[in-house]
Amino acid sequence: MKKIRKDKVLVEKAEQDLEENEKYLSSAISTSSDGLWDWNIETGDVYYSSQWKSMLGYEDDELENTFSTWEKLIHPEDKEKVLQNLEASRDSKMVSFEVEIRMKHKNGQVVFILSRGLLLKRDSEQKVIRLLGTHVDISEQKRIQKFDDKNVKILKMIATGVDAVSVYNEIALMYESRHIGLRCSLLELKDGILLHGGAPSMPKEYCDAINGLKNGPTVGSCGTSTYFGHRVLVEDIATDSKWENIKQYALPHGIRSCWSEPIIDSRGKVLGAFGMYYNYPALPNDEESEDLKSAAILAGIVMERDQSQKRIKELAYKDELTGLANRISFYQEVEKCIGSQIHFGLLYIDIDDFKNVNDTLGHNIGDILLKEIANRLETICRETDYIARLSGDEFCILVREVEEDKHTSAIVAQRCLEVVSRPMELAGRLFTPTCSIGIGYFPEDAKDFLMILKVADMALYFAKEMGKNQYAFYQLELSEKAEYRFKIEQGLREAIEKEQLTLVYQPQVNINTNTLVGFEALARWNSINLGQISPVEFIPIIEKIGMMTQFTSWVLKTACKKAVEWRQLSVSEFKMSINISPKYFLDEKMVPSIQKVIDETGILTSELELEVTESIIQIDKRNLSIFKAIQELGISIALDDFGTGYSSLASLQHLSVDSLKIDKYFIDEIKTDLKSRYLIKSMIELGHYMNYEVVAEGIETKEQLDILKGLGCKVVQGYFFSKPLDTDAVVKYLNKAKENVAKASMKEAK
Ligand code: C2E
Ligand code: MG
Ligand code: MG
Repeated sequence: MKKIRKDKVLVEKAEQDLEENEKYLSSAISTSSDGLWDWNIETGDVYYSSQWKSMLGYEDDELENTFSTWEKLIHPEDKEKVLQNLEASRDSKMVSFEVEIRMKHKNGQVVFILSRGLLLKRDSEQKVIRLLGTHVDISEQKRIQKFDDKNVKILKMIATGVDAVSVYNEIALMYESRHIGLRCSLLELKDGILLHGGAPSMPKEYCDAINGLKNGPTVGSCGTSTYFGHRVLVEDIATDSKWENIKQYALPHGIRSCWSEPIIDSRGKVLGAFGMYYNYPALPNDEESEDLKSAAILAGIVMERDQSQKRIKELAYKDELTGLANRISFYQEVEKCIGSQIHFGLLYIDIDDFKNVNDTLGHNIGDILLKEIANRLETICRETDYIARLSGDEFCILVREVEEDKHTSAIVAQRCLEVVSRPMELAGRLFTPTCSIGIGYFPEDAKDFLMILKVADMALYFAKEMGKNQYAFYQLELSEKAEYRFKIEQGLREAIEKEQLTLVYQPQVNINTNTLVGFEALARWNSINLGQISPVEFIPIIEKIGMMTQFTSWVLKTACKKAVEWRQLSVSEFKMSINISPKYFLDEKMVPSIQKVIDETGILTSELELEVTESIIQIDKRNLSIFKAIQELGISIALDDFGTGYSSLASLQHLSVDSLKIDKYFIDEIKTDLKSRYLIKSMIELGHYMNYEVVAEGIETKEQLDILKGLGCKVVQGYFFSKPLDTDAVVKYLNKAKENVAKASMKEAK
């Protein structure tokens, strides 16, 4: 009994509340700018006030007063939330609710709304059947809250030392979130150059185009603002003269207006610029203008801090005077290479008589000299080298060795000597500095940093002992080798340029008819300083010093000229065979330059043969088209040194050649080694099957010849018939052949 009474009281109280709230709401309808709504679930009637609609960007008559209007405009997640709340209200005595929802504005943006409602009426089963409520636009508060959250996030990032670029991006995003359609960028300024800092919403192509631009009085908005140190507002990029030269980077991406505030540090130095962009012509309103200012201040704090950290790092790892790496950095680099077992040479460089400069001209002049030498040394270092100043006048270069002969370090050392010893003006007079260099190798000479420094230092001592202005290796014999290499390279360069090489010609003979079928042109170099040097040695060096094209063109021209000259002297037709290195063969200019030689010398293409090794097909199978082009010209191709490569048979599958030259290596063994004989036999048969001429190289004895004859070989080349001949000897050889033919025919006639 008591309980029933209590319930009755509660219901009465609730009804009283409702009445009061309804009164309150009714009065609100006429006064508030809030949107009002009324939903009668029982009848299905829905009412939205014109403010309710305009909050979402609609005119009064643009939205129907139906429940589905609300359903369409509310965010689906929030719709569920509201309906679930309503359902739950059935079992409670709840009379009002307040919920944050997201609704869609006519322009597509999200509007944050605080929706308050009164549950006006319930049916007998306590189900709510009428609701009345308001909508308040809280988007601005939400934005402020979001902005505050981001602000806190950025401060945390700064405090925890997150990298500057991430902070720049976050700052840009924070300001973008405050204005619909806004995009932001941060640029750093270094030595007058604009460098990309952060612009998370800007197109990459645009950022790339701006990155590296030099600032100036008419370089867009940011280039100009950093140049003058004050704000630059460009309303329309398409027409503003400041963008005249760079608008092509912005307009294709729809970027139309750009406002820039210089980022200035605490001492007034311009560090960069904060840029704001819209896709339509515009000038900032008060709020945007304030934001532009505060964004640049915030960015300035981060940038200044970042730069000072970089500076501290620089001081720790860089040599202040020269800007090169210092001892600590060098130590780390060497340790890294040792850790990864990278082979390298360490050049320990010491300026000769530097003390004299310091003592006689003073430390300031000494510093100038050191800076100049550091600059010079830096210019000759390759990307993979690492240069540092260890102390005083001591520099070190770490040279990664790629070649087995460890010649790279010697080349770099030689360049150091050359570059350092260029005359320079010092204290008003011409001065020619020199340096000495010691070279140690990892892992051959030393296993750790200290040891490698020590051995290079010892080598430096040798270099000084030997008279300065030179380099020396820790392993003394390497010095001699390097010296020899340089002499060869230098001599060869000169010899090729001055056409001082010569050619000799080795006959190829048909052993069935005993007639000449060809000459192989072989290069010879008799150096004035170094004596006779074998082509086996100098051909790879020609390749290395990059003179193969020039050299081969000379060989082709010279040999072809001779072939034409000797045509009349010969009783039989013969071919001129020229050795072609892979480098030259794969050069796209080869075919035209051969054509040129043919035109100039008058040699017939049928008189010309190119000797190539099978290595060319390993280099690039695509170049088989070159084979075709040559053969189409009517020039034959011989596969030289056949059988010695790794893919002799495979190469035959890909290449179509005219003859195979069996390497001397097999011929040498032909008498004693049955296997060699079988191999030669198979090569000859294989060649004949494929319709190739087979030439046996390096025949020195009658026995070898007889065996080859027995195996079906027709053409041979070797000392047994003739060594390579100089031009005079060729003429004699041809005359002799002529005489022999004449004698034979006379004999026959008798
Ligand atoms: P190659 O093309 O296989 O030339 C044959 C080599 O064997 C030549 O050595 C020749 O003199 C030698 N030879 C021929 N018959 C005999 C013999 O019976 N006994 C002995 N012991 N040797 C014999 P050479 O002239 O020293 O040339 C060596 C290599 O240098 C050539 O091998 C060729 O690969 C290269 N070469 C020479 N001249 C040129 C050139 O003008 N251009 C290019 N790219 N390479 C060349
Ligand atoms: Mg050859
Ligand atoms: Mg050969």
